[in-house]
Amino acid sequence: MIIVLKPGSTPAEIDHVIERIRELGLKPHVSAGEHRTIIGVIGDENKLQAQPLQAIPGVEQVIPIMKPFKLASREFTKKDTIVNVGKVKIGGGHLAMIAGPCAIESLAVLDEIAGPVKKAGANILRGGAFKPRTSPYSFQGLGEEGLKILRDIGQKHDMPVVTEVMDPRQIPLVEKYADMFQIGARNMQNFDLLKEIGQTMKPVLMKRGMSATVKDLLMSAEYVLAEGNPNVVLCERGVRSFEDSTRNMLDMSAVPNVKGQSHLPIIVDPSHATGRPDLIPPMALASIAAGADGVHIEVHSCPEKALSDGPQALLPGRYASLMEQIRKLADLMGKTY
Ligand code: PEP
Ligand code: MN
Repeated sequence: MIIVLKPGSTPAEIDHVIERIRELGLKPHVSAGEHRTIIGVIGDENKLQAQPLQAIPGVEQVIPIMKPFKLASREFTKKDTIVNVGKVKIGGGHLAMIAGPCAIESLAVLDEIAGPVKKAGANILRGGAFKPRTSPYSFQGLGEEGLKILRDIGQKHDMPVVTEVMDPRQIPLVEKYADMFQIGARNMQNFDLLKEIGQTMKPVLMKRGMSATVKDLLMSAEYVLAEGNPNVVLCERGVRSFEDSTRNMLDMSAVPNVKGQSHLPIIVDPSHATGRPDLIPPMALASIAAGADGVHIEVHSCPEKALSDGPQALLPGRYASLMEQIRKLADLMGKTY
């Protein structure tokens, strides 16, 4: 850690900072420049993390050298982590092809979607039973009935299933029916939820919050890992921006950015990132080209009748033609699914 003092900080202020560092059993290295003093701190940085050193008079900036996420970091685990969801592997050259409707609407509709997406190459079925809707008057999901439908249709088509859990109280129920928990963008920093999820061993698909930095995303993964659950897959799904012709702004650089900093798999959701069926296929291809460990795509057999996110749903036929292109790209990149 490096502590940068304000220009003109007094000797008494500098001494006070040095004293605080020593009190914590750490060693200060003082470098007095012409205009300002910089203090390097040697020792276990963990001892300093909870200390609001920035609040000490005379301190301008406290710069941590160690990354704040540890278990999620590349330094901690050099090799790519592979997360197993049923028989499907994600990461380390294995792609997750997650597809399905935004919400589970009925057994018949989910079946009508699951068959074609499986045939096209999807290996994990998605669908929300608890939906985080902006309006309280919008369809909120079928709850447990939806979870049962998802499990039954997943079994029928031999696909593991992923679904969102929004509240710690829903964990036992969702855990019973799903193969993977989804933490939605709106809950990426629901730390109590993350801690509870961390106490299960079920794989987690953690979506990036709509105004979360890459570091925030990795810190949220750290919450789950720190509780003992190592099975975290990250998901870039676009962030809020000034651009209003797309639903969100897809941060494609997050993929190689995360890969450099973390061993965890990262996939991309071009559906929520763009909100536009015309942009989803090119962005899905770009995701694989950027090194993503899979894509998460909403598909509906009749988008105009969908109970949520209909306008961004791909028709099964369009999904199948995209998957043909993805297969070629995956081959080229030495990835399998
Ligand atoms: C979803 O996957 O249906 C969803 C609500 O996504 P997000 O949390 O990324 O908005
Ligand atoms: Mn959706």
